[in-house]
Amino acid sequence: MTDSVLQATLNVTEASQRDWDVLVIGAGPSGAIAARQCAQGGGKVLLVNDQKLPRDKVCGCCLNGAALEALNRIGLNKLVSDCHAPILENFVLASGQQQVALPLGAGVSLSRQRLDLELTQAAIDAGAQFLDETRATLHASEKQHCSVMLNHSQSEYATRARITIIASGLGRRVFSNRLADERRTNRNSRIGAGAVLSEVRSDFKPKTIYMACHRSGYVGCVRLEDGRLDLAAALDANAVKQAGGIGPLASIITNSAGLPASDAVAAANWRGTAKLTQSRATVYGDRLFVVGDAAGYVEPFTGEGMAWAIASGIAVAPLALQSLKVGTTETGPTWAKSRTRLLGGRMWKCRLISQLLRRPKLVKAAAWGLTHAPGLSRPFIRSLNRPFPELRS
Ligand SMILES: Cc1cc2nc3c(=O)[nH]c(=O)nc-3n(C[C@H](O)[C@H](O)[C@H](O)COP(=O)(O)OP(=O)(O)OC[C@H]3O[C@@H](n4cnc5c(N)ncnc54)[C@H](O)[C@@H]3O)c2cc1C
Repeated sequence: MTDSVLQATLNVTEASQRDWDVLVIGAGPSGAIAARQCAQGGGKVLLVNDQKLPRDKVCGCCLNGAALEALNRIGLNKLVSDCHAPILENFVLASGQQQVALPLGAGVSLSRQRLDLELTQAAIDAGAQFLDETRATLHASEKQHCSVMLNHSQSEYATRARITIIASGLGRRVFSNRLADERRTNRNSRIGAGAVLSEVRSDFKPKTIYMACHRSGYVGCVRLEDGRLDLAAALDANAVKQAGGIGPLASIITNSAGLPASDAVAAANWRGTAKLTQSRATVYGDRLFVVGDAAGYVEPFTGEGMAWAIASGIAVAPLALQSLKVGTTETGPTWAKSRTRLLGGRMWKCRLISQLLRRPKLVKAAAWGLTHAPGLSRPFIRSLNRPFPELRS
């Protein structure tokens, strides 16, 4: 576990007294990387997060090959090795009586406490200013700037930025105008949930992702760099109610798939999320860009969200810097197109898989097929790890 707190580089009064080139809302992977890249490109950047870092976040904590390659492209590959993130070797898919171990071509597990702290430190090292424990709300985009309210310790401070990047994650409000925050959610979208266990049974081998599938959802487990066990789940909201809570349902799922520790899973300190599969009508506006989960997300079975977030943080930065000179009339639509090129196909595939997972017979048949011919999974796993050719260094 990471004990050291990341210090803000300025206080809210100082943040409100300056005019910023780029203000980034949210210090998850997409926001921290967008802030770093913009600062490296010469922008005066403020990165605002509503919590102190480090903090936990509901996530499976697995960075796939595409995420690692994207970090490598911007010179942050050492960050992962410096954290001693375990290299993932196997993916154990468990459904009913079927269990199959599939080799993983690439990937590491790394706690979100550590990853987000390190990425934010990288943004600071590149020259971005960092303000924590402050909720940012976008009020209006005017001709020359966006007005942003910074809410800190129940007081409000106004600041201005020429460009705002919204990287606030899944289902979080950032606009003062409620309509601007509306997202499309799938009717049958699952909710996310996560917990971290400190006491871990030795049955959970390191370097292995365990995924228990059930008609009511799925639960993934992986050992982190500090030995703790990360639990992450996508669950049907109705089934959660019927089971009496997230813990009891997660325990039913892990138990039904023969994974150990269902008592600990039931008793874990679970946190839930908003509906997972959601999207925004537009990912840009006057002087603003939306990136990462805030722009749209699909269920986490394929473990790609952080790769999408990292790639979008890298890809948006040159457009944000260009907009300082030319505004967003052209760069906004360019961002929408680039994002579709970057992520559209990957998200579509992930959406298709999340629909197939709702058919238990199909999951059982797939597990049976893979038990007899594990090689069948190789092209699929390779496609998830495939680097983003669209990214420029
Ligand atoms: C159950 C589950 C399992 C997952 N497993 C994996 C996995 O194994 N691998 C993978 O790659 N992805 C996984 N994901 C997806 C991954 O967690 C996300 O895609 C990723 O975190 C998105 O990054 P982001 O930067 O867009 O947003 P986030 O990581 O959510 O960061 C947003 C930040 O903004 C802050 N914030 C929000 N609103 C404000 C505001 N108004 N002012 C200031 N700060 C604000 C938040 O506190 C947060 O720090 C999983 C997701 C879920 C739900």
